[in-house]
Amino acid sequence: MKEIYDIAIIGAGPGGIATSCEAVILGLKKIIIFEKGNNHSETIRKYFKENKPVDKDWKGIHVDIKGHINFEGGTKESTLDLFDDSLEKNLINAQFNTEVAGVKRIENCFEVMLTNNESYYALNVVIAIGKMGKPNMPSYKIPSSLKKQIHHSISECKGNEDVLVVGGGDSACEYAYFICEDNKVMFNYRKEVLTRAHPNNVDNLMKSVEKGQVRLKMGIDIEKIEESNGRIKVFFEDKSTAQFDRIIYALGGVTPKEFLQNCSVKFDETGEMIVNEKNQNDIGLYIAGDIAGDIGGSIALALNHGYNIVSDLKEKLEVS
Ligand SMILES: Cc1cc2nc3c(=O)[nH]c(=O)nc-3n(C[C@H](O)[C@H](O)[C@H](O)COP(=O)(O)OP(=O)(O)OC[C@H]3O[C@@H](n4cnc5c(N)ncnc54)[C@H](O)[C@@H]3O)c2cc1C
Repeated sequence: MKEIYDIAIIGAGPGGIATSCEAVILGLKKIIIFEKGNNHSETIRKYFKENKPVDKDWKGIHVDIKGHINFEGGTKESTLDLFDDSLEKNLINAQFNTEVAGVKRIENCFEVMLTNNESYYALNVVIAIGKMGKPNMPSYKIPSSLKKQIHHSISECKGNEDVLVVGGGDSACEYAYFICEDNKVMFNYRKEVLTRAHPNNVDNLMKSVEKGQVRLKMGIDIEKIEESNGRIKVFFEDKSTAQFDRIIYALGGVTPKEFLQNCSVKFDETGEMIVNEKNQNDIGLYIAGDIAGDIGGSIALALNHGYNIVSDLKEKLEVS
C-alpha cells in the first residue's frame, strides 16, 4: 500500500512554503511538497536581481500578514533566508527536482502524478505553481535565430549592450532602472502612461530618464522584430526602427490553464477558475499564490493564501 499524505503541495514558492509551514504548525504530520527546481522559490531566484529591494506591499497593495511567517519585506537575499529558516525550522519534507504532471481524484483522495511517472497519494492537494513558469510573449513572431537574445529577466544582461525593455508594470520599470548604469536602455510600453506600476518604481524610472540613462518609447507598440547581423531590429508601429543586443519582455505570466485542467481543477461557465475566500477550488483541492488571482499577486498575498488554506483544513478537522 502506498502512503497517503494529509496534504500534497505543488510548488515551493511563497504560497507553497507558507502552506507547508502552517500545516506543520497545525499539527499535520504527513506533508509533502513537490518543487520542479533544485531549490525553493525559483521565481525569486530567477527573476529578482541581487540585493533587489523586496516590498511587502508590492504594487502598493497593503497586506496584513495573517500567518506565522514573519515577512516584512527586505531584499532578495533576506527573503530567501527567511524561507530557508521557515522550511528548516518546520522540518519540511521538500522534494526538489520533482515536477508534477497532473492530479487525479480517486475515491476519497488524490493521485499526484509526477513527470517521471511516479505517483503519490494525498487527502488534500494545494496547487501553488505561480505564473512565471510560462511568461507572456508578444503576438508577433520571434525569429528562432534570436531566441538567445530574448529574455524575461535581466540575469543574462552582461553590460555595454543596447537593451530594450518591453512592458508597463513594476517588473519592467525595475528591470530598466536596474540595468541602465551598465547598458544603453530603451523602455517601450504600448500605452502612453504607466498606470500599473507602483509610483516609487515610476519615480525611479523617471530619474534614470532624466539622467539620460533610459530612453522612453511610450504609446507605441512593436510591429515585428527581425535579425540584422546578429542584432535585433525592432520595427515600431510609428514606422521607426532601432537595433538592440537584447530584448527583455516583462509582460507578466500566463495562468497555466492546461496544467490546471490536468489537475482536476474546476472552472465556472465563463471559463474562470473557481477559487473561494478560503482558496478552495473543490473539496480537498486548493489554489495558492499568483495563480489564485487575476491581478499580479505578491509574496505577502501568497503567504496569506497558505494561512487561509490551513485554517480551512483546521475547521474541517475540528468538525470531523
Ligand atoms: C521581477 C519581479 C519582481 C517582483 N518583486 C516583488 C516584490 O518586491 N514584492 C512582492 O511581494 N512580490 C514581488 N514579485 C511577485 C512575487 O515574486 C510573486 O507574487 C510570488 O513569488 C508568488 O508566489 P507563488 O508561490 O504564487 O509562486 P512562485 O514564487 O512563482 O513559485 C512557484 C513555484 O512552483 C514551482 N513549480 C511550477 N510548476 C511546477 C510543477 N509542475 N511541479 C512542481 N513545482 C512547480 C516553481 O519552480 C516555483 O518555485 C515580483 C515578481 C517579479 C517577476
